[in-house]
Order: sequence, then structure tokens, then C-alpha cells
Amino acid sequence: MPVLLVYNTILIDMSKKITIAIDGFSSTGKSTIAKLLAKKYNYVYVDTGAMYRAVSLYAKNNGYVSNDLLNSNDLVSSLNDITLVFVFNNDLGYAEIHLNGVNVEKEIRSLEISQLVSKIATISEVRKKLVHEQKLMGKEGGIVMDGRDIGTVVFPEAELKLFMTASADKRATRRYNELINRGDKVNYNEILFNVEERDRIDSTREDSPLLKADDAIEFDNSDMGINEQFERICSLVDKKISQSS
Ligand code: C5P
Repeated sequence: MPVLLVYNTILIDMSKKITIAIDGFSSTGKSTIAKLLAKKYNYVYVDTGAMYRAVSLYAKNNGYVSNDLLNSNDLVSSLNDITLVFVFNNDLGYAEIHLNGVNVEKEIRSLEISQLVSKIATISEVRKKLVHEQKLMGKEGGIVMDGRDIGTVVFPEAELKLFMTASADKRATRRYNELINRGDKVNYNEILFNVEERDRIDSTREDSPLLKADDAIEFDNSDMGINEQFERICSLVDKKISQSS
């Protein structure tokens, strides 16, 4: 229950702002839930996948990837030239990622970037830079962050950790519909392969593999609608807030 203080007729919400870490497999609807939570609780939402995708776009645009071969040494030497900023879009109600001053939100969601990003995310120097920035963004609490290593590496002390799963077919269908709706020409089998391949690389990499933290609550949403998921998760959040206040 929120703790409210009436001060000079102004209501001040004294409830503790907790940290919510959402991890899980590709296309399990982590960001949909995270955006809804951030809106409801007035928290900051950070999509860490967007950060790895933006670094991948940078690598592609700078010629560090050709014929599937990645020149990771050149990418690592130019990491200081990469500036990532989340800019809140009032119309959308969430922040969009800017790479060196340019909004790249649409470009980073393409299948081409999805096919590259998990390789980029295996590079320890890339992870070190992004994890450092993620920790800074969340140091005051009041944050919902989604990704693959949030509950295990970025915020191991988060008050609430969720781990999302769903069948590969459900996840590929969601991703396929998303890409078709934005006008991309894609093929379902290609998407299914990409979703499974990213999960394989993400779960088996040496540095910060995708793992369920011991204290994370697992959510299989293969057969659960968004309203049901959101309601269940909100009651977990409310409980954690009242325990922490
Ligand atoms: O969340 P999204 O699917 O956009 O993430 C894209 C990729 O970025 C993941 O498949 C994973 O390889 C990488 N990633 C990561 N650690 C995070 C977030 C994303 O390795 N915290």
C-alpha cells in the first residue's frame, strides 16, 4: 500500500521506489510488461536490449561486420565513440534510444540487427560498458529494466525479479506479427530460427549468460494474456513495495 504524506495540502508519495528486474528469453513480452509497469508506478523504464542493438547497428554502419564476420577488435577500440541516450517520447509514453544523437529505434528492430546482436553481446568489453551505464541509470531505484542479465549481474539486489518464458512458437509468432505490422518482409521460419538461435547464444555465452536468478519468479506466458500477466505482476510489485516501505 502506498505511504502518502499530506504536506501543505500537497500529497507526497513516500513509498519506497523499488528496482524491478525483468529477464527472459527473446520475444517473451518483457518490454510490453515493463512499459506498463513503468507507467503505472511512475518508474523509469530501460530497455537494455535496445542498447546492445544500438551497438550492433554502430558496428554494422562502421563496416565492422562483413559477410557474417565481425571485427570485434575494431569495435572494442571504438567503444568510446559510442554515445547512447534514452529520450522520452511523450506521444509514445516511453523513451527511445538515440545513437550518437540519432533516433535509431526503428532501425535496431530489423531482422538484420537481430541476427547480429547476440554475437555482439558476447563481447565482454561491450557488456562492461553497457552494464556500467545501466547500473548508473538505476542507482536511485524506481526503475524497471529488462534484458538478459538484469537480476543476475546488473541489479542482483533488485527487490523484484521476474523471469519470462514462453514456447518458441508463441514467441516467433509475436515477433513475426510485430515485424509484418511495421511493413518488413519476413518469413516465419527465419524468425523462429533467429529467436531460437539468439536464445542459444545468450544462454551459452561465457560472460553473463541468460540465467534465471535463484530468487526470480518465473512466468510462462505462452497461454496468458497481457491483462492477466499485468494484474499478477502488479500484485507482486505492490507486495514488494509495502514490504520495503
Ligand atoms: O531484448 P532484445 O531481444 O531486444 O535483446 C537483443 C539481444 O541483446 C539479446 O538477444 C541478447 O543477445 C542481448 N542482450 C544481452 N543482455 C541484455 C539485453 C540484451 O545480452 N541485458
